[in-house]
Amino acid sequence: MKAPGRSHRSGISIMKLTEMFPNEESARVWFESHVWPDGRDCPRCGSTRTHECSHAKSPYRCTDCRKYFSVKTGTPLAGSPISIRKWVFAIYLEATSLKGVSSLKLHRDLDITQKTAWFMLHRIREAWQHERETVLEGPVVEADEAYFGGRRKNMSNAKRKALKDTGRGAVGKTAVAGVKDRKSRHISAAVVERTDGATMREFVTKRTDPAAFMYTDEASAYLGVPRWHATVKHSRSEYVRGEVHTNGIESFWALLKRAYHGTYHHISGKHLDRYVQRFSGCNNLRDMDTIDVMGAIVRLMVGKRIKYAELVGSRN
Ligand SMILES: [Zn+2]
Repeated sequence: MKAPGRSHRSGISIMKLTEMFPNEESARVWFESHVWPDGRDCPRCGSTRTHECSHAKSPYRCTDCRKYFSVKTGTPLAGSPISIRKWVFAIYLEATSLKGVSSLKLHRDLDITQKTAWFMLHRIREAWQHERETVLEGPVVEADEAYFGGRRKNMSNAKRKALKDTGRGAVGKTAVAGVKDRKSRHISAAVVERTDGATMREFVTKRTDPAAFMYTDEASAYLGVPRWHATVKHSRSEYVRGEVHTNGIESFWALLKRAYHGTYHHISGKHLDRYVQRFSGCNNLRDMDTIDVMGAIVRLMVGKRIKYAELVGSRN
């Protein structure tokens, strides 16, 4: 069954985007409509009694706490000298690039330093962090895990299986576990410490419906998961048996790996989960029109300010 979606989705060309946002004013008005969908309120005290003023950088003032503010105050854009228009273009690129945007590309496209581009991308990706809590509602899910930090494509099936069965696949690599809803095609995934039975039991239990039917490969880690369960035997080169396969979640791993090797070249273990949430989030909104995805990103970014030092501190 083909879900309604991609063919109905309305995209925006970069030419159209420049017409929609010809100047800072147009970007500010659009941004404000998403930060304050119910009307402007004070980011400090929450009061709705605010008025415009002539302050250059903070064009509004709260009647109650008497502080000046702008639409950037209290959002990840606070303290950023970057124009809202450049943020809108960065959000557009993040929302429309299937394999993600590198800081090098953003640096070149927006005439900003690569350091600024890197920081902006991390702040935009914070919008997706709610994806860590995503619970799939569908009656059929695929569960699988993947490893990042080295290439395994030349490995034999037997060696792959041996690594998986002993949990040694994670040595020197970072493991990511994921479940995919066959019906909605939504994904819930995260970096996990281990891929043993206890971890996978907790992971799948938290993220899927108790009545769901689960398809996996033959990894023993899934045997204790309290779900109806059917497997395909990858070690015997069996990949599809009727409805029983994990092709959906595996195509998500393939996309993540293409992004990992092609766009970003290297993602440190600590940052990998941010990217996993970003790709899950983009996947889960992919049936929406581009302008709606951009608006959703703005709403999700609000109130999720992360400091540069926090990002740099964990950069390795
Ligand atoms: Zn106030």
